[in-house]
Amino acid sequence: MIEFKNVTKVYDDRTTAVDDLSMVAPTGQITVLVGPSGCGKTTTLRMVNRLIEPSSGSISLGGEDSTSIDRIQMRRRIGYVIQNAGLFPHHTVLDNICAVPYLKGVKRPEARARAQELLTLVGLDESYAKRYPWQLSGGQQQRVGVARALAADPPYMLMDEPFSAVDPIVRKQLQSEFLKIQVDLAKTILMVTHDIDEALRLGDRIVVLKEGGVVAQIGSPAEILARPADQFVADFLGGSRGYHALSFEPIHGVKMHDTPTLTIDRPAPRTEEAWMVATDALGRPVGWVQPGGLSGPVTTADVSTASAVSLTEGNYRELLDAALAGPGGRAIMANEDGTYAGTVDIDDVIRASVDALTAERAEQ
Ligand code: ADP
Ligand code: MG
Repeated sequence: MIEFKNVTKVYDDRTTAVDDLSMVAPTGQITVLVGPSGCGKTTTLRMVNRLIEPSSGSISLGGEDSTSIDRIQMRRRIGYVIQNAGLFPHHTVLDNICAVPYLKGVKRPEARARAQELLTLVGLDESYAKRYPWQLSGGQQQRVGVARALAADPPYMLMDEPFSAVDPIVRKQLQSEFLKIQVDLAKTILMVTHDIDEALRLGDRIVVLKEGGVVAQIGSPAEILARPADQFVADFLGGSRGYHALSFEPIHGVKMHDTPTLTIDRPAPRTEEAWMVATDALGRPVGWVQPGGLSGPVTTADVSTASAVSLTEGNYRELLDAALAGPGGRAIMANEDGTYAGTVDIDDVIRASVDALTAERAEQ
């Protein structure tokens, strides 16, 4: 756990970058500091590993005051990932990753073997090990930056806009892969971003900061979306607030239809239906088929693939996306065991979503 108690940072020119910050980044979770440029996010992060000293207040790591930990110990316990990765330009990818393990005195073969594993973990194969940073794309450099921070196996990770320098599609990929890695590693992470979508996607807890380093709100993504503390937070969440909030609403009580199914590798039935749900031999939906005009067994080439939304684990955002993508505004739903459950019309998705959000607001 990282704990800030009444931390203030006033720079020499009297700029107050962080103002009386008290917050906790719980063990094994991702805490995201989010806010507009200049609101003190980087300053807050750099005070944790003492690249910047607070003007007043205290920061502790696992209950230990950070000023009592020596700087070398500090570097080993806290991984630091920055925008543009900050790799050493004259070192290969592998040597970049091994930098801290070498400092710690880990034997070369051991350090290099672990570095290879980490490279695979962040989605880069062996062929990248011998390259130099300039021979990699921005997204690949970012992956190496994450691998380097993980190499020392630190319990804490500080990440300053780690995915901001890459295009939106690569950013989404990196975010998903990072979430997968975190499930296993369960590091205590304090991450900074100016991107509210990224904060909502990655954060277990979100700290919204405003100008002058003042906390606007602290809470889970669902809490912040459902109940923004003030106009600043509401404006910062922007117009997509309702849509985001839907991803925290489990599906229940939505009206389902018994759209008929057909099975891959079996002949298409004679039917008046314009669209049917195709399933595999085990009854699991794979997508939509237009049975008219098909002759012989149905093949996967006849299917417009669509992912089914889980009745038990799905949320209204997935359901809305699936209905928007499905023919005639219909989404396919699956039971807990993956078998076909039924389809849902977009009108019913919208009705149920509005009900769910209204019920959430009414609880305030
Ligand atoms: P963010 O990361 O949220 O964009 P920063 O923590 O970098 O914000 O900066 C917060 C405020 O402190 C800004 O107004 C910035 O101009 C100012 N600031 C940052 N570093 C210094 C410095 N070394 N000296 C004076 N002011 C600084
Ligand atoms: Mg910054």
